[in-house]
Amino acid sequence: MSDSKQDKGVSVVSETVCQEVMGRSDAFTAVENVFSAMAKDTAYNFPVIREAIGHADALYGFKSGFDRDGMVLGLKSGGYWPGNIEKGLTNHQSTVILFDPDTGKLKSLVGGNYLTAVRTAASSAVSIAHLARKDAKVLGMVGAGHQSTFQLRAAVEQRDFEKVVCWNFHPEHIPNLEAVAKELGLPFESVTREELCAQADVIITITSAFEALIEKDWVKPGTHIACMGTDTKGKQEVDAKLLTVAKVFTDELAQSITIGETQHAVAQGLIKESDITPIGEVINGTKPGRTSAEEITVFDGTGVGLQDLAVASVAADLAEAKGLATYFNL
Ligand code: NAD
Repeated sequence: MSDSKQDKGVSVVSETVCQEVMGRSDAFTAVENVFSAMAKDTAYNFPVIREAIGHADALYGFKSGFDRDGMVLGLKSGGYWPGNIEKGLTNHQSTVILFDPDTGKLKSLVGGNYLTAVRTAASSAVSIAHLARKDAKVLGMVGAGHQSTFQLRAAVEQRDFEKVVCWNFHPEHIPNLEAVAKELGLPFESVTREELCAQADVIITITSAFEALIEKDWVKPGTHIACMGTDTKGKQEVDAKLLTVAKVFTDELAQSITIGETQHAVAQGLIKESDITPIGEVINGTKPGRTSAEEITVFDGTGVGLQDLAVASVAADLAEAKGLATYFNL
């Protein structure tokens, strides 16, 4: 019997191992590649299931898809359990399950909590790489929760930022983000939302808000905004009217208009679906991205299953190659 990966059985890649093997640059490449494949129609997301289960106030669901370029098939299962924090657990829980696209056999079980943060940060970083002005100097962070530190670390690798400005709904959380900025050697200032818009060249919103935090008239020409928090019907982070004066991009059109930041502007008839460009088109060079220094660009990062599968597949490959995966047979 050969000693192939297949013969060892199903690989298990723990949260700890994911943190050990999965770096930001691998995540960036995996996410950029999958956005490109989505725009070429060689990778597609299956319809998302997300349900309130009527127990523990939990929201539970599946995100799944198939990437024929990367030969990655599987799903991320999990959701949001608001009571977890009192149990010493993360509120967001997820696990990625990968299958062999040639046979349908279960291939890997991969912890999805750390990878969700890494792939979400990689998504806004990809948007900054392709859409922000090259001379962007000030990064504005709206939000200072769990995801925000991952967002900050990934963003600063894309431009020569000289300063971070931040606003958060819960001011008591701001020191967590400030500590990361300090570690990265960046001056940090806590400001009002309006002042943040006046200073920032790139803004990342990563909150649980259900109403606009950023007004259209506050945003200065040339700003790039990555809206990363809106991933559910009803959520909102920026003024819907802002989308009428910005060039709007997204990870996936179908999610953007239903659960993403553009849902409000589209529902109100302020913009049309055809006004929104999948970022994969920009990556592939089939549609333009930013075309002037004055343009405002908005990226609606809704978070697609294929992002999860892409980073989980890389993490599984790295863990297996480094002998850090464990195995079982069903
Ligand atoms: P968290 O609970 O750790 O932080 C929530 C953040 O939202 C905090 O900054 C908090 O102060 C702020 N907030 C809470 N209520 C608010 C309100 N009414 N108005 C303005 N701000 C408010 O959550 P997290 O893990 O950092 O995730 C942040 C958001 O990102 C969540 O909404 C989550 O669903 C979303 N998310 C999106 C993706 C994606 O791919 N797009 C991936 C993961 C998480």
